[in-house]
Amino acid sequence: MQHPSINPRIAALSPYKPGKPVDEVARELGINDIVKLASNENPMGPGEKVQQAIAEAATELSRYPDGGGFALKAQLAEKIGVEPSQLTLGNGSNDVLDLIARVVLEPGAEAIIAEHSFVVYRLAVTCCGGDLVTVPAKHYGADLTAMLEAVTDNTRLIFIANPNNPTGTRVGASALLPFLQAVPEHVWVVLDEAYLEYVEDADHVNGVTVLAQFPNLIVTRTFSKIYGLAAVRFGYSVSSPAFADLLNRARQPFNVNSLAMAAVMAALEDDDYVAQSIALNRAGMKQMTEGLTALGYDFIPSAGNFVAFDCGESGGDLFQRMLKEGVIVRAIAEYGLPNHVRVSIGLAAENERFLAVLGKVGANAAGSGAGNKNAPGS
Ligand SMILES: *Cc1c(COP(=O)(O)O)cnc(C)c1O
Repeated sequence: MQHPSINPRIAALSPYKPGKPVDEVARELGINDIVKLASNENPMGPGEKVQQAIAEAATELSRYPDGGGFALKAQLAEKIGVEPSQLTLGNGSNDVLDLIARVVLEPGAEAIIAEHSFVVYRLAVTCCGGDLVTVPAKHYGADLTAMLEAVTDNTRLIFIANPNNPTGTRVGASALLPFLQAVPEHVWVVLDEAYLEYVEDADHVNGVTVLAQFPNLIVTRTFSKIYGLAAVRFGYSVSSPAFADLLNRARQPFNVNSLAMAAVMAALEDDDYVAQSIALNRAGMKQMTEGLTALGYDFIPSAGNFVAFDCGESGGDLFQRMLKEGVIVRAIAEYGLPNHVRVSIGLAAENERFLAVLGKVGANAAGSGAGNKNAPGS
């Protein structure tokens, strides 16, 4: 029986399933040669300069971090062309997404998301008593017209991941700008730009550049993806100074630790690392999507550092079979995509290994009973 003094909304949440850690799989299978392509991490590993900065900051571990993040905010603001007063720093951008929900929502208030959206929005909204309104996707992506139609007097918040995880879909400038114009003033729009740096299409909005036009816009970014710092946990939002002030009131005073601040400040100076990451992802995306097509799998065209494909069977089943071969991918049934698997773009050799294992144990493998409708010759 549930303890009587537990928030029923929390008790009803299903636990977040993170990508399976390499160590755990190695222990379970008794093998060391494992490829993890499950959490959209940067396959290059952390940059040298970042590692040095963390080692140097380690000498100050007995001191509390700068709770205001003064030096980091100054450097970041300069880099992206905003005022430090517009920034809110977080222990990962998930922390900031959570803060936004807490500042904006209260029981009975509505937040709108698209079907197949990043799962953290649901968590954030549910935990502060808000009501989640999920709008059906169009071609797996956010249907901005339908999302606008879903706005009511009770709506306070709309989350849009651009590009979205786990689908890799994105909304272009030609759709997003009219949408932002049309959203009523009482509604805050969060544009989650975790994968912005990977986008190649010219028809795309960098949210920070249009903040001045849309006072109800909040942009979030992360250092977990292109900057290769997922373990460090750092993300931030950019908004009007007035909204940032509210976020900063609700924020725990030391939510970003000193090692993270040192790492981020070093990463901000390493433009080469970012450029190399983009180039590596571009080549890897080509390798992966060509490989998937050659094996007869349909994939959702992705603007991120991962790709979701229709595996022709339960994604959970394929996940298990690939795991036994030492390749960790991500089943995405909890995103409403039971027959899709998401794979992150890795190093060339990792992508090759993934494709070889998929060719061996996937539904389209010769002799497999599962069978994919897209299989060549079927
Ligand atoms: C990975 C990801 C994030 C980043 O989360 P962090 O807490 O910064 O690691 C944010 N939004 C989306 C859509 C993501 O996929």
